[in-house]
Amino acid sequence: MDSDERFLKMAVDEAFEGIRAGHGGPFGCVIVRDGDVVGRGHNRVLTESDPTAHGEVVAIRDACSRMKTFDLSGCTLYTSSEPCPMCRAAIAWANVGRVVFAASMKETEDVLGFRDQKMIDALRNGEDLTPSDRVTFDGYLEPFYEYRDRDGVIYRGFEDSNSSRNSPSTVSGCFLISHSQITSTLHPSDSRSSRLRLSRSTFRSNFAFQNSV
Ligand SMILES: [Zn+2]
Repeated sequence: MDSDERFLKMAVDEAFEGIRAGHGGPFGCVIVRDGDVVGRGHNRVLTESDPTAHGEVVAIRDACSRMKTFDLSGCTLYTSSEPCPMCRAAIAWANVGRVVFAASMKETEDVLGFRDQKMIDALRNGEDLTPSDRVTFDGYLEPFYEYRDRDGVIYRGFEDSNSSRNSPSTVSGCFLISHSQITSTLHPSDSRSSRLRLSRSTFRSNFAFQNSV
């Protein structure tokens, strides 16, 4: 048995454990780094009364908690079923390097009738899954300013650091950049508003090889 199949079967065992304990749906997940399981979990939506407690999210939280990090670069996530859109996003936010799944989304839907594909289609078409209204008011950006002025840290994902993957100043493709470092380097005398307009491409081109921790 190759290692992918071995870890996938562990994810399926997690699914069995979850449904037999009455924790939630039949979905399990393990996260592996360098051949070791560093996190695991199964769906806990029912027992936690938490619609976000999908197996992948539970496993990501477990791995991050155990390793005291929010960056799972270099990890492979094994899940018993193809991840839903929420979990796909969580996996991306965590910088997981690779996903391996067993049951396809269609197989899951055929048996259980979930609505993943409907969500994917809506997102692909740029439709709101939930009606949303934007309301602005004086001070609604203040948390951003205060965070930046307190030397807050911007977390940049793997996508942004892709070009510097082999740089010794990076750690597993993850960047942590302080706001003060950005603003004092790029625009030392700019006003608050103009500094906030810095684009993602500006961040990429100017900070690809520095300030990571
Ligand atoms: Zn999910």
